[in-house]
Order: sequence, then C-alpha cells, then structure tokens
Amino acid sequence: MTSHQSLGANLNRIAVIGAGHVGATAAYALMLRALVHEIVLIDSNTALAEAEAADISDANALARPARVWAGDYADAATAGIAVITAGGATQGSQDRLSVAAKSAAIVSDCVDRLIAAGFAGIIVVAANPVDLMTLVALRRSGFSAAQVIGTGTLLDTSRLTQTLSQTLRVAPASIEGFVLGEHGNSEVAAFSTVRIGGQTLDQFCRGEAQPDLPAIAREVRDAGYAIVEGKGYTSFGVATAIVRICEAILRDEHAVLPVSTLLTGEYGLSDLCLSLPCILGAGGVERILVPALSPAETAGLVASAGILAAAIAGMEPAPNARV
Ligand code: NAD
Repeated sequence: MTSHQSLGANLNRIAVIGAGHVGATAAYALMLRALVHEIVLIDSNTALAEAEAADISDANALARPARVWAGDYADAATAGIAVITAGGATQGSQDRLSVAAKSAAIVSDCVDRLIAAGFAGIIVVAANPVDLMTLVALRRSGFSAAQVIGTGTLLDTSRLTQTLSQTLRVAPASIEGFVLGEHGNSEVAAFSTVRIGGQTLDQFCRGEAQPDLPAIAREVRDAGYAIVEGKGYTSFGVATAIVRICEAILRDEHAVLPVSTLLTGEYGLSDLCLSLPCILGAGGVERILVPALSPAETAGLVASAGILAAAIAGMEPAPNARV
C-alpha cells in the first residue's frame, strides 16, 4: 500500500484540470485506454468542460464505458491522479518559458483548489513551461517530490525514438534512448543512451551511413513548433504521454520513463525540476536514474539546468509554498 493509496485516493478516478486542446484530448485518450472508470473534467470555462465531457461521453458506447463528466474540485478530491493541463498556450515558435508567469498563476490556482478540496493523490503536470510548472505545483502543494510529476521530455523522447525508427528502420518500441533536461529549447538528445538490441548507435550503424545526429536532435527539439505553426496547438502526442504516465502509476509498473522531477544532487543539480529517466509506480517517482552521459551531453544537461534555474529566479512570485 503506497502513501496516496493509503490516503484514500480512488484509483478508478482521474481528474483532468483544463479542458482545452490538451486536457480534452488527454481525457479522450484516457477513456479509450480504459485505465479508469471515472474521468472528471474541470475548467474555469464550465461550458467548455461540459461540452467536451458530453462529446467524449458520446464515444463511450462505441468504445470503453467510463463515466466522463464536467465537475469541480470536490469531484477531484478523491481522485488517484490529477492532471494539470490548464496553462498559458504558446503561439508559433514562441519559447515555452515566455508563458511562465501566466501559467504559474493558473497552476497555483489549480493546486490551491485541489489541496483545499482534500486531494491527496499524484499530480501530473503538463502545463508549459512544464519543468517550472512542476516545481510550482510541488512547492504549492507541499506534496513529496515523488507525488508531483511533469510530462517533461517523455514526448520529446517519443519523438526521438520515432525519428530514429524511420532513419534506422527499427520499431520505435525496440529503441531505448532518452531526451533529457528541459522540455524546451535546451533539451539534450542523449544519443549515448540509445540502445538497439543491446547495441549502441555506433555499433548498430557500423559499416553503414551514420545518421545525422545533430539534424535529428534539431528535428526533435523543433517538432512541437512545427505542429503549432500548422494547427495552432499540439495535443495527441502530449495526451498520449499523459496516458502513459497515468498507466505506469495506476498499474504500478515500475516503468522507466523520462519525466520531470525534483533533482536532489543528480549530476550536481538540485532545487529544480527537469527530466531524467525515472522509475514510475503506484507511489509516483520511485527512483531517479543517472545514466552515464558523454561529456558534451553532461555539459548540455548542466546548461539546461542553468537556463531553468535562471527562469525560476526570474519568476514573481517565487515558486514557494502557499501564501
Ligand atoms: P488551451 O488554451 O486550449 O486550454 C487551456 C484551458 O485551461 C482552457 O480551457 C482554459 O479555460 C483553462 N484554464 C485556464 N485557467 C484555468 C484555471 N485557473 N482553472 C481551470 N482551468 C483553467 O491550451 P492547450 O493547448 O490545451 O495547452 C494547455 C497547456 O499545455 C499549455 O500550457 C501548453 O503550453 C501545454 N502543453 C504542454 C505540452 C507538453 O508536452 N508538456 C504539450 C502541449 C501543450
């Protein structure tokens, strides 16, 4: 029995806060995956939450039965997981860090209301800039670091394995490898962590044309911007990352996923959230892994942390406990 289960959390219920593009798509994807029986959508725009809940409910009879409704924080109180998707959205190639102040106010509001309602489960943060918002949610809730998880670079990592899959003609599920650091411009595509059938990239590509790794890293980093340019927002990729994190928690999988978590000395870094491979189970983040990186990757990770630390220092008010 893990802490949040022993606190009475209902593992059959997920609360999705923010019923915009990301929240509605996440709720739909959660319903299709049949992870829980109850999905409550909460949004300050109640008409939107009601419409999205009704639309998703229409799919129920043809998909997996689940109760999907527009509710409020009282409905979230006993949920096992609360997913925070309410936040400032970016336009075109706008840096995610530029919406930090707007998102921090929204995420703080959502967390305060969750705590006031008695929520004691696990918080999954998707709002951008996600590493900063994970820290805001952590500080604001007073929860343990294990209980507050950012979607982080899980999406970027899935973009990396997908891109490598096309280049190397290997199924993405058969490629391990991580994008680490900030979910944003300073992220680090850690090619030294890539393994295909136990082989490193160098070993796998020996005697063949080497993939253009800097070009792949750029493509992965800029993929979100390209999607936002085309359709105005991104939704399916992040929604699937949300589902994957919820699945690992609800099924107590002990799965290794790169997610944003509070660092406490890993690579000499602390007091900020960024993505490293983490073991995720019923208690949330059960262990942070510290893979051996190349010197350039380690320097990139430290630089990424420096950018996040500077952004945290510039936030008003500071992401501290509730006031
Ligand atoms: P959106 O504008 O479509 O939806 C945001 C919703 O939040 C709106 O419906 C709004 O009414 C609601 N909201 C605002 N303040 C609220 C509050 N105080 N309480 C409850 N609801 C509130 O935006 P979107 O496209 O769904 O994006 C949502 C967030 O997710 C943004 O911050 C975006 O940058 C981020 N995002 C993250 C990733 C990722 O990989 N982590 C990917 C895509 C988008």
